[in-house]
Amino acid sequence: MNSSKKEVIKFAKMLNDTKLSALRSGNISIRSKNGFLITPSGQKYSSLKEKDIIFINLNGEYNKKQRPSSEWRFHQDIYISKKNAKAIVHSHSTNATALSTHNKKIPPFHYMVALAGGTDIKCAKYATYGTRELSKNILKALKNRSACLIANHGQIAFGRSLEDAFELAEEVDNLAKQYIKALVLGRPKLLSLNEMKKVLSKSKTYKRG
Ligand SMILES: [Zn+2]
Repeated sequence: MNSSKKEVIKFAKMLNDTKLSALRSGNISIRSKNGFLITPSGQKYSSLKEKDIIFINLNGEYNKKQRPSSEWRFHQDIYISKKNAKAIVHSHSTNATALSTHNKKIPPFHYMVALAGGTDIKCAKYATYGTRELSKNILKALKNRSACLIANHGQIAFGRSLEDAFELAEEVDNLAKQYIKALVLGRPKLLSLNEMKKVLSKSKTYKRG
């Protein structure tokens, strides 16, 4: 378990260092036996210690002396419904968040959109942070996808490892940035469903990392 905790700390610090999510925003978790390990609430990531990382089981139970991230519910629901989710990165990254305030999905303006598993990257409907309602909206936007935007909030990405999920989160923010720039010149030309299908079938056999 300790090596998993170390992983969570390493990537939580990277959230700040890479500017993917500033200050105390964003949270990170990794699947652990019958549950997951998650970053705490209201603590600066630069001072994280192993004892600060909290274990929550899949029923949502944890040591009440500890305070997990207030957004732990969507982590729980993703681990329950997505068997292939081994790690989750949630961030308030600038570009994805800016786009999310327009409640806009990222359409296939670039073939890399396929990295999230489909022909677009959806935007989950807004609900108050930490609620089961938000969790439900996120799961809907994650249908057949491994990343989505969250309206007026940020983005979420999961993967086979923290490295994988983190890279996807960075990619989502980069795509959001490119899409915002493209919109400055008007409506960008989108790739056809047929072209996106070709990319998607290619990426199934292409192993990242
Ligand atoms: Zn958040």
